[in-house]
Amino acid sequence: MTNPGPFPDLTPTTRNGDPRCGIQTHPGAPTCGAPATWHIAWHLTPGAADFSLVCNPHMRWVRERLVYVDRHPAEIACDMPGTGWLLAEPSRCVIAAADDHTDPRNR
Ligand SMILES: [Zn+2]
Ligand SMILES: [Zn+2]
Repeated sequence: MTNPGPFPDLTPTTRNGDPRCGIQTHPGAPTCGAPATWHIAWHLTPGAADFSLVCNPHMRWVRERLVYVDRHPAEIACDMPGTGWLLAEPSRCVIAAADDHTDPRNR
């Protein structure tokens, strides 16, 4: 089920190494779909982390309205199945082990 909260209603998209902005500015609006430039972590609770890929204009939109815990520039690895958020300086996405279930869409 979707998680009620102060976050945009995000529609999961197929991951194929082509990061696209998934922001909907209000419920029912079409997702943006522009090439994503940022990868945002809303929170990093193990097993229940939430992420979004966003374009530059929507990064500004997010910064004005929402709170996130981490971000890094979007790259191909951010949109690959089975990647995990590596906490580092800066953070980045890495291909996680096959038994890592941090991404529920990977099951
Ligand atoms: Zn966008
Ligand atoms: Zn990433």
